[in-house]
Amino acid sequence: MVVTARSHAQTCSGADLLLYRGHIITMDRSRSVVSAMAVRDGKVLALGNDASLTRCMTARTQRLDLDGRTVLPGLIDVHTHMMEWVTGLLRGEIDAGYPAVHSISEITQAIAQRAAALPAGTWITGAGWDDAKLPEHRYLTRQDLDPVSPHHPVYFKHASGHLAATNSAALKLANITKDTPDPPGGMIERDAAGQPTGILKDTAMGLVATLLPADPPDLEVRAAKVISEKAAEVGLTTIHDIYISPDQMRAYQEAYRRGWLKVRVQMSPRISNLADAETLAHMGVHTGFGDDMLKLGAAKMFADGGMGARTIAIYPPGVIGEPDNLGVLRWTPADMQKAQLTAAAAGWQLETHAIGDRAIDEVLDSYAAIIEKLHLQDHRFRVVHAGISTPAIQKRLRELNVVVDGNPPFVYWIGSWFTKYGPERVRWAYPAKSYIENGIVEAAGSDVSVTPIRPWWGIWAAVVRQEMQSGQILAPEERITIEQALTLYTRNGAYAGFEESIKGSLEPGKLADFIVIDRDVLSVPADELKDVQVLQTYLGGRKVYGHLSGPNLQ
Ligand SMILES: [Zn+2]
Repeated sequence: MVVTARSHAQTCSGADLLLYRGHIITMDRSRSVVSAMAVRDGKVLALGNDASLTRCMTARTQRLDLDGRTVLPGLIDVHTHMMEWVTGLLRGEIDAGYPAVHSISEITQAIAQRAAALPAGTWITGAGWDDAKLPEHRYLTRQDLDPVSPHHPVYFKHASGHLAATNSAALKLANITKDTPDPPGGMIERDAAGQPTGILKDTAMGLVATLLPADPPDLEVRAAKVISEKAAEVGLTTIHDIYISPDQMRAYQEAYRRGWLKVRVQMSPRISNLADAETLAHMGVHTGFGDDMLKLGAAKMFADGGMGARTIAIYPPGVIGEPDNLGVLRWTPADMQKAQLTAAAAGWQLETHAIGDRAIDEVLDSYAAIIEKLHLQDHRFRVVHAGISTPAIQKRLRELNVVVDGNPPFVYWIGSWFTKYGPERVRWAYPAKSYIENGIVEAAGSDVSVTPIRPWWGIWAAVVRQEMQSGQILAPEERITIEQALTLYTRNGAYAGFEESIKGSLEPGKLADFIVIDRDVLSVPADELKDVQVLQTYLGGRKVYGHLSGPNLQ
């Protein structure tokens, strides 16, 4: 719908910035599209047609001639692990992800090169490998790693983040033998003879990860700077960084103090045990504390594992080819509820990773009890992923008013993992259309580095639902429109973070967070959505990313 005139005659004066001759998709309630927008003091002052907004100008108003280009509200990614991803880049971890490597031998060659250059005993780390995208279609094992790194401990995280491959040197340092029991919520994979294969799943990763050398003290502060640059250049103006540590929160605060943040960040601290929940409860501040740039988000827990590690908690039948594998639950129901009640009673919004339907039910049981006990009205508790979201699960999500942090890009990037769970579960994997029809609010997350930071992958995948390797459309009935996909990344992202009064659409009084893109997303063929380029990103009316493109775009 094109709205040609929207009058804010009384309030429109003294604009700092005027955008005109544009195609401004406001994402307001009626999905208005306008040609001009005035900005003052970092906020949207008025929207309308070019003629109607000239009155907002003064001699000092900056003008941005959009020359027909499209503008959107800045996009919101409610589920990233940006700090973890970027610190890995800064540490020089080997990128073993698609499309950087194409086979296990390419990974082992990279490790051999690194080993040749480093003194014996030095750790070699890497991340991003995905058995589903390697032609061998199997996990890396210590038998792959030992010949190229007999004297260097190796720790290589899988793309899912839910398992890691280690070599014999690393297992030895961690004292992991065939007699080591699986830790609660984790698995030490073993071969037919009972020997560890080097694959550590979920909490078992910590047996080795805790031995990795400490980072230089400023690494995470430098990472926060890089994070905001990487987000701004792809059109994100708000990110939620999930399951972060106290040191990582300190780093964001320091980066903000230094003036390095270019996007707004919600920090979601981790609850990995009951003591963490107590610590958060005793802080005295909680979700929402901070300002428009940097604030505390939801408290995050894990209920189960990942599809890539085949550790999501499901009801029978088990994983295809592993009938006894019903996944892992990281918490007993009693402990989960205790931890969540402790945090929620202290004012924390809750978000809990749950992919399998059995895990989602455990979380919803806990949420239901807490909502009732604390008489919560507007809790916006979130289920992160909600990967296997059957009709029964959706009914509960709706009844409890629980928000889903969904992952539109998963269908494309890791849809091949879904298929290990059988066609019935693929049908209900990440069902965006059903959520809309059933009145469930879904916000969107890339889960960086599970999928890339570019939100355009997710916007495209939500519309087409094509899986990368087979080219198959997974659950085509769950495809949504481009406008609906944009809603997940704008309005719904704002809602998930209790920020719908200040962002998620371009409307008078809201933050002037917007992006200029290179094509009209409402009219291009769906396949082009993944190719959208961001020309400029504005935060609070100030340009934080952009290059010259065309004579009139300043
Ligand atoms: Zn995640």
